[in-house]
Amino acid sequence: METHEISNLKVVFLDAQSLQDMWKSKTGKPGTQFQPWLQKDLASVKTVRGFYDFSTETLYCPKWNYEVCGHELHHAALGHFHPNE
Ligand SMILES: [Zn+2]
Repeated sequence: METHEISNLKVVFLDAQSLQDMWKSKTGKPGTQFQPWLQKDLASVKTVRGFYDFSTETLYCPKWNYEVCGHELHHAALGHFHPNE
């Protein structure tokens, strides 16, 4: 068992485009990058889907995307959101 207390966390939910714009405004790098030559002549696109800004202790997440930021984190930020609960 491992316990962490997070005292000053801010969570910001954004749509995919706003998240990439935020990433670019903070890092100067595009939120979506073309990555050539990963495998032979195949290329891929790498997209920022969420990130934590250490300087402002802020987590930037796509809303309702549990894979990126987690189902329970949504509860921590939003409270109860299941109907019939
Ligand atoms: Zn739930």
